[in-house]
Amino acid sequence: MVSNTKYIFVTGGVSSSLGKGIIAASLAKLLQAQNYRTTIQKLDPYINIDPGTLNPYEHGECYVTEDGAETDLDLGHYERFLNVPTSKANNVTTGRIYQNVINKERRGEFLGKTVQVIPHITDEIKERIQVLGKSSDYDIVITEIGGTVGDIESLPYIEAVRQLQWELGENNAIVIHLTLVPFLSAAGELKTKPTQHSVKTLMESGIQADILVCRTEHELNTALKIKLARFCNVKQEAVIQSIDASTIYDVPNLMLEEGLDKVVLKQLALNSSIPNLTHWNTFVSRHKNPKNTVTIGLIGKYVELQDSYKSILEAFIHAGAANETRVNIESIHSEYLNPNTVASKLSHLDAVLVAPGFGERGIEGKIEAVKYVRENKIPFLGICLGMQMAVIEYSRNVLKLNNANSTEMDATTPHPVIDLMEHQKTITDKGGTMRLGAWDCELTPNSIVEKVYNKTLIKERHRHRFEFNSDYKERIEAAGMKTTGYNPKTGLVEIIEIEDHPWFVGVQYHPEYKSTVAAPHPLFVAFVKSALVYHKNT
Ligand code: GLN
Repeated sequence: MVSNTKYIFVTGGVSSSLGKGIIAASLAKLLQAQNYRTTIQKLDPYINIDPGTLNPYEHGECYVTEDGAETDLDLGHYERFLNVPTSKANNVTTGRIYQNVINKERRGEFLGKTVQVIPHITDEIKERIQVLGKSSDYDIVITEIGGTVGDIESLPYIEAVRQLQWELGENNAIVIHLTLVPFLSAAGELKTKPTQHSVKTLMESGIQADILVCRTEHELNTALKIKLARFCNVKQEAVIQSIDASTIYDVPNLMLEEGLDKVVLKQLALNSSIPNLTHWNTFVSRHKNPKNTVTIGLIGKYVELQDSYKSILEAFIHAGAANETRVNIESIHSEYLNPNTVASKLSHLDAVLVAPGFGERGIEGKIEAVKYVRENKIPFLGICLGMQMAVIEYSRNVLKLNNANSTEMDATTPHPVIDLMEHQKTITDKGGTMRLGAWDCELTPNSIVEKVYNKTLIKERHRHRFEFNSDYKERIEAAGMKTTGYNPKTGLVEIIEIEDHPWFVGVQYHPEYKSTVAAPHPLFVAFVKSALVYHKNT
């Protein structure tokens, strides 16, 4: 079979958390910067249909695509690096694969055959891998296989990759194996044996790695690279060092220095040129050489987990660079905020973001934080649950609606200022049933947001069940909190602002999902700017 699209598979060895997603995104960036239309896909070997039902302790942030898929957070890296939207085709789990195969079996599509891992599951995996390639939108598809080789649950994926490589033929599909070269301080040496073993494990499944990307804390010298090449049966130029970087945004340039793009393109029989990274490098240099510093509080209940607010943290990096400002994020656990502690934890901040979330834990602390920043005129951005908390706080403390709440937290509240969306009331399944993906939003002229976006119709991504209860709209507006963004079809309120405040914005959607290096999100850019103004005035 002759295919125009080239495929690159990225597998992991030795250890998890080596950063396959960042390596895949960095390689894609280098290929995109040489005018190859490149996309990245992640195959996750767990049985959940998607990460939407996984809590952040299990899986970090759940990233949402334009078409409303709840996906792995690596898709966020892909979009931030490439500035090209991903879709549900870019993330596939074992659960999804099996669900499809079982549905086909129920429909009788296998014509009485015994349904087996090979060929039925592997065929389904191969089909999912090729969906993006066949769309003719891409010259190169990079497929990242989650997990570590040798895991039982990865086996069908590895087998599918082996078959595809054989079917697609030479120069059409290659395997990059990401591994760890640990430094043993007692021996004072970098060790290659774990890599040798994981390459061997891959070979047991019939796959010869074409390129090794070696994560390391110390430089790999030439002798060590030769040793790795010889024992792992790859060309010397195909042993790529991936040394720890101070920021993930350095990785494309580090891979360029190591020649990863060159060796990849050579093995795919494609021409290489000097990648155009002008814009990227301007961003990196602004990020690393800030002229100012602001400190912004991030208030949530998962702040101890570095991956749970990934897209928000990255959006601050993009917005910081746009403002030539270093944004120090101070993570504040909402459960520790109460009337006695709030001032000591927030008074020194230049701005506060109240994070998205689900469930009751920590919400009173979030409400306390909103009250403090509203009264003390500290810039505020509330995202999703954060916006809902701002509405509750205003209702309780300004409108004096006692025990106002969201029906998510208190089903019998006398003032359900945040309530379940009508069509959500009959849904019982949890997975994939929220309001998801990109929706239009119309902005009110002369509002903060209209000035920030500089247009009146925007499209932003959602992930929620509850909403601003329009029954309270008139009363809330009359008291000074304005609704400045609506869904044009349903009239749902998407944005609130406070007039008598330097910068107070709450959005029902998630702006952080759409911030990229090439296009920092305007709301984050404006929020950081407001923090800067506040900082200079205090
Ligand atoms: N729990 C809230 C809802 O479902 C907010 C969700 C969120 O912050 N993503 O509406």
